Parts: sequence; structure tokens; C-alpha cells
Amino acid sequence: MSFAFKPTITTIPIIGSEQEFPVRRVYCVGRNYADHAKEMGHSEREAPFFFMKPADAIVVNPETMCYPSMTNQLHHEIELVIAIRDSDAIHGFEVSTEQAWELVYGYALGVDLTKRDLQAKYKKQSRPWDLAKGFDQSAPISSIIPFEELGKLTDGNIELSVNNEIRQKGHINQMIWSIPEIISELSKHIVLKAGDLIFTGTPSGVDEIKKGQTIFANSFDLNLNFKIT
Ligand code: MN
Repeated sequence: MSFAFKPTITTIPIIGSEQEFPVRRVYCVGRNYADHAKEMGHSEREAPFFFMKPADAIVVNPETMCYPSMTNQLHHEIELVIAIRDSDAIHGFEVSTEQAWELVYGYALGVDLTKRDLQAKYKKQSRPWDLAKGFDQSAPISSIIPFEELGKLTDGNIELSVNNEIRQKGHINQMIWSIPEIISELSKHIVLKAGDLIFTGTPSGVDEIKKGQTIFANSFDLNLNFKIT
């Protein structure tokens, strides 16, 4: 068997390893921090909801990112990302919160880049907003730090600044749905498999980024630092 053309595969470096993490699917949680839900005009606790980005929307440790087409309002959303692994003991469907940590391969730091104007327009029209979230290069991400290094994350800072001015400053413990709860809820819909990534939502302070500005994001030992060109 041979391929008609070369298949593309997205991989992420793993800190302390020669191996890379092959990306299968990219899931994202919407409105998972109360302050951010509020700034988006929602005040009640609601069941988590999910959307996706294509695997090849991932850009690993970029130094520059091109300002995308079809928007005049590009927003940054800093997010902790969970990398999923296989487990011999646990099937990735209808995973309980007790079993969920078993499926965590590691963590990364990502930015859920969003065309906010386009998203608002599609929302108003009750149309799918996939292309406001899942466009090319919409998911810059750091290398992956293995689970063994950080353990079960329930607390820790997550911060993003633009041109050295802090825009987003949150704590993992402010998540409405915790990491095991996210895994459990998502796995009611689909089978989670090794290579899946889950963006876990953003704290408040989402805002516009313009051409020429530089983003610095950090959480734990993970960093992202890139310029929009
Ligand atoms: Mn997001």
C-alpha cells in the first residue's frame, strides 16, 4: 500500500524526551472560568460545552504568527491544554471522574485564537462558528510536559501579556469544570484516544491582538512567546 500523497501529521515535542506527541483531535471547552463567562454575557453555571479545531491548526512554539484573514478582531484566549494517552485499564468512553487522571499524558499551554467579530456574526445568525475558531494556525501551543512532572493539576497560575502588559491572569482552581470533570463530560460524547488534546477554557481578560504585538503566555514551566505579523 502506498499513499496517493504524503499524509500530514501534527506532532508536539515532549519535554525531557526524544519522542514527539502525535496529535489526533483537538477539543476545546467553552466558558470554563466564571469571570470569562461573565465577560461573554453569561452568569449561570451551565454544563460544559465543547467545540473542535482541526489537528493541523496546531502550531508548535511559534516565534511569529500571521494575522489571519476574514477578521478585524482577533482575540487571545490563554488555556491549559490536556494531552490524552491510552490506558490498558480504561476505555476512553464514559470515563468516571475517578478514572480520568489515568488518561492524562501531560500538559501544554495553548492560545485559542478567535476571530471574535466573525464568531459574533455567526452566533447572531444561529450558524456554526467553526471557522471563527478552527481556522489555520488558530492554536499555537507549547511543548508537552509529562504528567509525572506536575501530577494532578488543581491549582496554579495561568497568565498572558501583550507587549508586556498583563491581560489575563487566572488560576487553574477557578475552572468551573475541573480536569477530571472535563474528561468525564467530554467522554460521554466521543471515545477519547491517545493523541487527543483538550483546551480547558480561558480566564477573563480576553482581548484584541493587533499586528506587530507580542504575546507572552506562561503557566507552570510552560511558555509561549510570539509576535503577530
Ligand atoms: Mn477558548
